[in-house]
Amino acid sequence: MSAENLNRRAFLAAGAVGLGASAMIGAAPPRAVGPRRPVVVSSANGLKTVEKAMEMIKAGADPLDAAIAGVAIVEADPADRTVGYGGIPNEDGVVELDAAVMHGPTHGGGAVASLRNIMHPAAVARLVMKRTDHCLLVGEGALRFARMHGFPEENLLTEESRRIWLHWKETNGKDDDRIPPPDDELDDVVREFFGIRKHGTIHCSALDTHGDVGCTTTTSGLFYKIPGRVGDSPILGAGLFLDNEVGSAGSTGRGEANLLNLSSYAIVDNLRRGLAPKDALIEVCKRIVATNRTPRLRDAKGRPNFDVKFYCVTKDGRYAGASLWAGAKMAVHDGDSARLVDCASFYDEKLIEP
Ligand code: ASP
Repeated sequence: MSAENLNRRAFLAAGAVGLGASAMIGAAPPRAVGPRRPVVVSSANGLKTVEKAMEMIKAGADPLDAAIAGVAIVEADPADRTVGYGGIPNEDGVVELDAAVMHGPTHGGGAVASLRNIMHPAAVARLVMKRTDHCLLVGEGALRFARMHGFPEENLLTEESRRIWLHWKETNGKDDDRIPPPDDELDDVVREFFGIRKHGTIHCSALDTHGDVGCTTTTSGLFYKIPGRVGDSPILGAGLFLDNEVGSAGSTGRGEANLLNLSSYAIVDNLRRGLAPKDALIEVCKRIVATNRTPRLRDAKGRPNFDVKFYCVTKDGRYAGASLWAGAKMAVHDGDSARLVDCASFYDEKLIEP
């Protein structure tokens, strides 16, 4: 079968589970399946992601292409307010997306930041990796690049996310004339949303049947962020990192903590030095706790008043998840089934939000 036909088959397979063709722009044709046991890990919002990625890996897809197709389901899901379409917008009511990818066999990486109007930023990041000599495109330049490669532009702000943002706007402006509705007139979407969580993201790391790794992290970032704010997700080494000889890692949670500690790089480095997956993650939690010296980011006992979560898979198929605070879960598919499993944690208690 020609490469073109194989590509076409991948497109059709993606379409069968409702993935838009734009999520597949830049994917490689599948190759022969190898002898090793594949593993895919993701954040807790990635159950469908690990299923999709594993299905593609078993059909011979490149591990990065599988991870991108997996997260594309969440990027397109309006119910996930932390990623892609339906993500909570910036303070001006505009959805701005960040995403990055890394590819083990080539040690390539690409990323986009503050990208507007494009539903699948991880697929755009793959093209930054494959079709430019650069690693990161931002804002208007990233949008023009995506357009040039045929990504359709769409309004990513759903009606529900607009209503949530409006309520935030009406209740957070200090000196303006906006008046929020009385409590008994709040709509259910807004009532349910507030008090749940402030941000989120999806990460996916995939190990294929040849022992090659690929990973991606994609997000709409911090809710109501300052326009142009970029988190850890599109920064190689912060929101994700891999080394094809060692394994792959990524993170969700407070991006600034990962930027200040290059957390994903540190995890892979810990794995390289021989630490077990869980220990490699907890070691980075320890570093974040130790370097978090900003008073407004510490609770009464001096502990971080935020959370960060880490996920990794090693070249030989071991995996782990860990967070600062207890209670986090991760999604995993080990070739047999997709499930949510508990993450380890640095503290035994759950985070009490400030
Ligand atoms: N890490 C993301 C960011 O800082 C947000 C999150 O994962 O909650 O943009």
